[in-house]
Amino acid sequence: MSGFSGEIIWRGEPGYEDARVGRVFNARRPERYPAAVLLAQNEEDVIAGVRLARARGLKVSVRSGGHSWAAWSLRDEALLIDLGRMRDMTFEPASGIATVNPAVQGGTELTPFLSSHGAAFPGGHCPSVGLGGFLLQGGQGWNSRRYGWACERVVAIDVVTADGQLVHADEAQNTDLLWAARGAGPGFMGVITRFYLRTYPLPKAMTHDTWMFELAELEHLLAWIDELLPSLDRVVEPVIAATRVPRPQGPPVLLLHTTAMCESEQEAERVLAPLAACPLADRAIGHERGPTTVEAENDAQGAQNPEGYRYAADCTWTDARGPELAPLLRNLWSQLPTEHSFSIWYGWSPNRELPDMAFSVEGRAYVATYAIWPDAADDEHHQQWVVDHTRRLAELGKGVYLGDTDFIRRSDRFLSDENFARLEQVRARRDPEGRFCSYLIAPGAQLNAGPARRPHTGSAP
Ligand SMILES: Cc1cc2nc3c(=O)[nH]c(=O)nc-3n(C[C@H](O)[C@H](O)[C@H](O)COP(=O)(O)OP(=O)(O)OC[C@H]3O[C@@H](n4cnc5c(N)ncnc54)[C@H](O)[C@@H]3O)c2cc1C
Repeated sequence: MSGFSGEIIWRGEPGYEDARVGRVFNARRPERYPAAVLLAQNEEDVIAGVRLARARGLKVSVRSGGHSWAAWSLRDEALLIDLGRMRDMTFEPASGIATVNPAVQGGTELTPFLSSHGAAFPGGHCPSVGLGGFLLQGGQGWNSRRYGWACERVVAIDVVTADGQLVHADEAQNTDLLWAARGAGPGFMGVITRFYLRTYPLPKAMTHDTWMFELAELEHLLAWIDELLPSLDRVVEPVIAATRVPRPQGPPVLLLHTTAMCESEQEAERVLAPLAACPLADRAIGHERGPTTVEAENDAQGAQNPEGYRYAADCTWTDARGPELAPLLRNLWSQLPTEHSFSIWYGWSPNRELPDMAFSVEGRAYVATYAIWPDAADDEHHQQWVVDHTRRLAELGKGVYLGDTDFIRRSDRFLSDENFARLEQVRARRDPEGRFCSYLIAPGAQLNAGPARRPHTGSAP
């Protein structure tokens, strides 16, 4: 008898390897070995797990959806609490509040569940991402330019704290935990077992507008969309992707893919009108506009991020303007190393002060790069390729979004100095013995510190 409703598998026991890495999305699995994996069945298991770790002097790591690129859930000699078996979702029509266990996937599970109730939530662009890590890091999802970071819509959480107690945190109680849960990422000091989410009514007319260009058009395309960005309606989400998906054997193409979640086709026409006036239209090698759905967009993202491959990701926020970024992006985008590798420029253009929450670094544009390859022999080369290119961009940057980082390879600033100091205080108070693993960073590297920045010509927004 283990005393758990779920299972605990200690290192050396049958099933350990599958429990260790079977739910890690990235096929590049690090050589880090937890002392045991607890496949929790319910909240009581999570409580018992944290108490067991206390009794045995083990640290605790957590896995929800297993999509951290760097597999943060894998920590040597820790008790890994895997929440994958807990998949409850509820929705209350009167309040519009949904509740989810953290392993619930934003796209494949939460989106259809909420759609059936006429509601929506800015889940991740890729359908299989777990809500746990996604929300803790901020959460960049569909309609986020309009509705903000997904974590801003977390109204409460249930948390198992370092002393093995289950507590509820909202705007009235345990407010420090709610503040930290909105942006601390893997530095959160507890195990969240349930999120309470403020949904919004399902938009009636999601529309996409997609232009395809040869890489040769990069400078003109970026200069145009970058100039347009601040005037675009907040429901319009413009992304330029350098990708080989439409032409797997050829050089990368540029897709300017824009979505808008609107209330009517007329509204979509109006907000997307500036894109119809594309000055490069005569040089496009493809253009489509039409109705779409979150499900269809999720499927496309799923195809861009195939399962079973090895991944490395890195990113930067920058206020640098298009013409200044273009040479760096040309260098990067013309060298995408494999058929599936891709890189994006996402026009974010923040136009407001962020609310009081841990999350605190963003910029005019988000540049993220993903190397994707099949063979272990290429691991080192591709990881270094992503980091080297991103490092050059980061000199014009402001910091990173935790969701696309691996601090073992390159660390950067992810919180404002003030919020980082405040987070450290919450941790010292809530987890004085350091029970929870926190950030995974290369030995000797400094947490929340960036490279020397170069002055740039941009000015936000
Ligand atoms: C294919 C793909 C597409 C992606 N697309 C997007 C996107 O569109 N937008 C975006 O914002 N991000 C995106 N990401 C990044 C993603 O949000 C992060 O990798 C996130 O960590 C995934 O959450 P998870 O629960 O699946 O990961 P996990 O690996 O399970 O969790 C990551 C870490 O978060 C912490 N954590 C997770 N759950 C809990 C919990 N319940 N309690 C306490 N700590 C916890 C732990 O430290 C854990 O190790 C994508 C990632 C992938 C692989």
